[in-house]
Amino acid sequence: MSQRQRRVARDLAVFIITTFALVIIVSANRDRNNVNDCRRQIDHAAAALAAELAADHQLPLALPLDSKLRNDRTHYNYAPASLAVSGDHGEPAVVYCTAPHALLTRSNGRHVAIKRGRSIEVSWMTEREFREQSERLGCRAAP
Ligand SMILES: [Zn+2]
Repeated sequence: MSQRQRRVARDLAVFIITTFALVIIVSANRDRNNVNDCRRQIDHAAAALAAELAADHQLPLALPLDSKLRNDRTHYNYAPASLAVSGDHGEPAVVYCTAPHALLTRSNGRHVAIKRGRSIEVSWMTEREFREQSERLGCRAAP
């Protein structure tokens, strides 16, 4: 291999490694922004729903989303009628991401807002944790 060929091969390897690293960094950043946006929205919804519970009101039929945030109703599964059935027993999920966030650099997962008494707590669950707890939380694990 001539010196010129070695240099071209080295430059090509550096280019491929740099491109790969950039794809990972950009994807990880996109994943983090998506998860953070979802968290802000579900935190907003959970606070609004907790306020309704505290005031002894029925939960609204439509999920209260913050219009200033990216709001995609189909992203969340919200079924207030099923909570009425469970009443004060158990700790049902009030709202959760309909589908898991597909992440490149860490385990896929969802945000889940769980009703505990009159408060609603939001937590992040990996897809495995979600599936393990979905029955107890009253969630449909699919899709
Ligand atoms: Zn989400």
